[in-house]
Amino acid sequence: MTLPPVTTRFAPSPTGYLHLGHARAALFAATQAKEGRFVLRIEDIDQNRCRPEFEAAIYEDLSWLGLTWEQPVRRQSAHMSDYANVIAGLRRQEWVYPCFCTRTDIQREIAQAVSAPHGPDGPLYPGTCRELDEGLARERIAAGDPYALRLRMDEAIEAAGPLTWTDAARGKQTATPDIFGDVVIARKDMPTSYHLACVWDDALQGITLVTRGEDLFAATHIHRLLQRLLGLPTPQYHHHDLLVDAEGKKFSKRDHAPTLRALREAGKTPEDVWLMATA
Ligand code: GLU
Repeated sequence: MTLPPVTTRFAPSPTGYLHLGHARAALFAATQAKEGRFVLRIEDIDQNRCRPEFEAAIYEDLSWLGLTWEQPVRRQSAHMSDYANVIAGLRRQEWVYPCFCTRTDIQREIAQAVSAPHGPDGPLYPGTCRELDEGLARERIAAGDPYALRLRMDEAIEAAGPLTWTDAARGKQTATPDIFGDVVIARKDMPTSYHLACVWDDALQGITLVTRGEDLFAATHIHRLLQRLLGLPTPQYHHHDLLVDAEGKKFSKRDHAPTLRALREAGKTPEDVWLMATA
């Protein structure tokens, strides 16, 4: 019996130049694909933060590292109507509700609450818009009030039933998406969110092994739930450890981690970068 080929992906957001941490993730995904497929996906749903020059640099830097990937590259910004259709399906199932709260509204509500449970992304949404009268919500939408869409977490979990996944680094995991509360699945300024677009595209592109850094481990709880609600297959997962600097801090844009192009300009070869990124 021949096993189906492994398909992995590297899914950067073009919000800056790639640094060594990205190189680690890209090389990890490409090598895990072995003889199978390696897919590059541009996660550019946030048009305020993404720039064409950063996207062009992604192709250039990855080619310089010696990587090749399938064509055509899926650019999420070109598929916003797909995500809107997926969300419309979730709305018909009533697993989703509109939320008109601003960040300030949410902070105020939390400050007044007796208890404010926290999740992986900070304090959980206090549920202000959850029971909003439907007619009123429709009126506000018709009047052009900006709104996000949130998942009714308890009902979604009940509909989904028990969820697990297998992580190559940590073994069998039980998904507990409730740790995120009523998570946003479509942002106010766009008809999707990272979670929804990622899950949809992983399935559409036939990804069998999702590899990404440990910093995204918690997101998999939500991804498993969305996969079940949308009837999508469950890939295998491998959350790899992150590259840290001399002080043990993870490489990040914010901390001015050296970019691949800066390393190249400083005379490093692709082989040097492979060694640094896979250490
Ligand atoms: N676009 C995400 C990032 O750049 C990666 C998402 C993923 O691998 O699931 O952090």
